[in-house]
Amino acid sequence: MCGIVGYVGPRDAAPILLEGLRRLEYRGYDSAGIAVLTEKGEVFIEKRAGKLSNLTDHLNLNGNTPVGHPGIAHTRWATHGRPNDTNAHPHADCTGNLALIHNGIIENYSELKEQLRSDGHKFVSETDTEVLAHLIESRYDGDLVEAVRLALREVRGAYAIGVMHTDHPNRIVGARMNVPLIVGLGDGEGFLASDVPAILEHTKNMVILQEGDLADVSPEGVRILDLDGAKVQREVTRIKWTLDAAEKGGFRHFTLKEIYEQPHAIQEALRGRVATDGSVAIPELTAIADKLKAIDRVYVVGCGTARYASDVGAYLIQQWAGLPAASQIGSEMRYGPPPIDERTLVISVSQSGETADTLAPTRMAAERGATVVVVTNVVGSALTRDADAVCYLQAGPEIAVASTKAFVTQVLVLELIALQLAALHGKLTPHQVRAIGLAMRDLPAQAAETLKLAPQIKKVARRYAGVRDVMYIGRTLGYPIAMEGALKLKELSYVHAEGYAAGELKHGPIALLDPQTPLVAIATAGATYDKVVSNVAEVRAREAPVIAVATEGDEEIGRYAQDVLYVPETIEALSPIVTTLPLQLFAYEVAVARGTDVDQPRNLA
Ligand code: GLU
Repeated sequence: MCGIVGYVGPRDAAPILLEGLRRLEYRGYDSAGIAVLTEKGEVFIEKRAGKLSNLTDHLNLNGNTPVGHPGIAHTRWATHGRPNDTNAHPHADCTGNLALIHNGIIENYSELKEQLRSDGHKFVSETDTEVLAHLIESRYDGDLVEAVRLALREVRGAYAIGVMHTDHPNRIVGARMNVPLIVGLGDGEGFLASDVPAILEHTKNMVILQEGDLADVSPEGVRILDLDGAKVQREVTRIKWTLDAAEKGGFRHFTLKEIYEQPHAIQEALRGRVATDGSVAIPELTAIADKLKAIDRVYVVGCGTARYASDVGAYLIQQWAGLPAASQIGSEMRYGPPPIDERTLVISVSQSGETADTLAPTRMAAERGATVVVVTNVVGSALTRDADAVCYLQAGPEIAVASTKAFVTQVLVLELIALQLAALHGKLTPHQVRAIGLAMRDLPAQAAETLKLAPQIKKVARRYAGVRDVMYIGRTLGYPIAMEGALKLKELSYVHAEGYAAGELKHGPIALLDPQTPLVAIATAGATYDKVVSNVAEVRAREAPVIAVATEGDEEIGRYAQDVLYVPETIEALSPIVTTLPLQLFAYEVAVARGTDVDQPRNLA
């Protein structure tokens, strides 16, 4: 995820673009860059790693802010290539006449790069994006829109792009596939943007581009084509949001926005890893495949939410790959390390990649000769420096303090790693892996379906907003989700909550239950369903109210639970993804009802 903004019209582009980037910085802050067609007819490009202020300070200090139009600008959330100046966007072609910005991932970039290189193109960055600049150059013979169209027909993956060229002083070209891009229509000027707030100051009239749309934007308006070159008609939407609402995508809090981003984040986490036939390959692990084949033990390390994701990962590594695997709390592992040697795999999980309590045991494991795989959302973060391989979440920045989309994508990436280990150790056949891969491809739609529970959850949450304690239970894969659900409630609403393995209830905690203490049960279809239902029945006998998360079509559970939140049916291994979402919404709604600071809970950073 990143922020794109483009301007074509009579005004100087730079101030408009830099202000637009400021409004998009929540989408990425690895680097920022700008390209403007100067009065001399040249493309001026300036880009800087780090926050937008690094770029603006540099431009201001040197009196270097470019004068001219059109222009394009970008704020990056790196997926391919470190967050440095060279990898920052815009990227240019070999002639320097074309500049391009991109949000997304080009899945077939290495093949394209190889081909373009052998045709003589010179690459300067490590990004997937740069291939687009050279590919368009190679298809260009004076018609920029046609060159972009021909290039995009060869590309696989996700993109929103903005392109400009010295031969076209009155045009910027945009295109979209699987990531958002909008066109703004002003009075004698046109805009491109990833998101409404970037350009809302200048126009309220916007065209929301659809997948496969190619937009030829000029001061006179916009012409939209599909990838076959046929003209398409799109409505102009009049945006009524205020700027503040627009930054949160119309949601009241970033937390809620990120909860709703999950279908997309899941899709991005699968991108380039699960093919249409369901086969699974994590390119990042290819180079260490031999090491992974030789390991005989696995530890999955994390703190807080990431630790619960680690529980799911360790469980599935054991089930699928048949390797002894345990999850570890980062701050505990450092002082009481388990046995680690050259045949140990340590998988370290941290959204930011900067969690000190995870960094320390990871370093220790690396020093003891373990193979280290890092699962993080932030390219180039501290944790990646100790890694033999890094698998990125590809989830885009998480602004809210309480983790939502990072948790779900951590679970998913760990599941992919578990599948890869199972394949390498000959424990799952390619056919079995493909069946799971295909089920994973259904998850974005199932997550979207699950989020439709929101109105029901809101009502339930209002009813329980005054309680003092909540108990969560689940078994096997439901257990870490019960703990994550309880953690979310604690963090967001400050209500005391505990997550327990359902079978443990009768060994102590059941003493806490009474009519004022609700129980949330993860009771989706699976091997332990009947057991969880018996646990729920025990609780009902103590008159504690029950909220169950169950699989669509389950009629039995309604006999024991006051409220049933039905989630779509998935294979059991993937159930954590769909069972997490209602718990996030529940925690969010309880927090809103209690009036806590949802996006920045007290005492947390
Ligand atoms: N994949 C591109 C990169 O890593 C674009 C990332 C983004 O969307 O910001 O540069």
